[in-house]
This record gives sequence, C-alpha cells and structure tokens, in this order.
Amino acid sequence: MARYLILAMECPLCGTNINLDSQSAQVRCPGCGNEIPLRDRLCPYCGAYHNKTATSCQKCGLEMTRRCPQCGALNWVGDEECGECGATLDMVALLTGQLTTTDRLDQQMAEARQIKDLEETASDARMERMLAKEAARQAEIRRRIQEQKEQERKALTATGIIAGIVLIFLLVSVLAGWF
Ligand SMILES: [Zn+2]
Ligand SMILES: [Zn+2]
Ligand SMILES: [Zn+2]
Repeated sequence: MARYLILAMECPLCGTNINLDSQSAQVRCPGCGNEIPLRDRLCPYCGAYHNKTATSCQKCGLEMTRRCPQCGALNWVGDEECGECGATLDMVALLTGQLTTTDRLDQQMAEARQIKDLEETASDARMERMLAKEAARQAEIRRRIQEQKEQERKALTATGIIAGIVLIFLLVSVLAGWF
C-alpha cells in the first residue's frame, strides 16, 4: 500500500494521466500499458517522477525517504508500511515531517523574539548606564558647588577673623591712645 498527497501523475513514457487511487507502489499506465514503478521514484508531495531512484525530490527538494520509527530502515515516503519490519508509516508520520518544518519556523520566530528581547534589554542597559552617568555627573556638580561653598565659607571666616583682629587692634590702639 502507498499513499500520495497528489491524486494523479503523468506517465513518464506516454504522458497519459494516471490516477493514483489504486495506492500501490507501482501503477499500470492505461495509455501504454506499462508498469510504472513509483517506489523511490515518485515524489508524493509534488508528483515529480524520477527516472532513477531518488532519495530527495529533484523538483521540490523534499526528502523522498522516511526512516522507520521502529527499526530505522529507510522507506520511500509513499510507503504505508515499513519494508523491513512492517510497522505502520501512515499519513500522520508523513504530516509530522511537515509539522517539523512548521516547528522549525516557530522556533526561528521564537529565536527572533528572543534576539529582539535581548536587544531591548541591551538598550535598557544602555539607558541605565546613561542615567547612571548623568546621575554621577550631577552628583559631581553638586559636590563641586558644595566644595566652592565650603571654600567661600572658609574665606569668609578668614576675612572675619582678620577683620576682627584688625578691629581689636584698632580698638586697643585707640584705647591706648596711640592715635
Ligand atoms: Zn504510459
Ligand atoms: Zn517533489
Ligand atoms: Zn521498520
């Protein structure tokens, strides 16, 4: 038994349209009467026919072999049963191959999202660094203003002390009658 995603194929010998309802690994062409082997030659996805056995489709590139999950033997994707052990290789397994592609796409999208998140986190980190820098700059300005005030206060104190000394000196000298 065999299954195809396509419903019909063209005879590679005479071009007659061959219905694939029979679901066998080979069909008899109603036009020329020849037995056309399908196993390892027909791509069940796009219907491309290969004149020699092929492991992947020359037209659509999809794998034309499928590993038996039971014994590991390679089978044609159209086979419903493993040629080695007879395990079922049904459409679910066929579709799983397609789901894997979707899964891969999902994974890629998840990765893209992750990268975007990382970029956002990175820009957040950049912003944080900028803010920290700005805060440090402002702290430095405040520290300098404080320092300047401190110096002014010291200068003022010194001036006050000098003025006081001069005043006391003047007072003493006046009292002493030097002037
Ligand atoms: Zn034919
Ligand atoms: Zn194909
Ligand atoms: Zn098997």
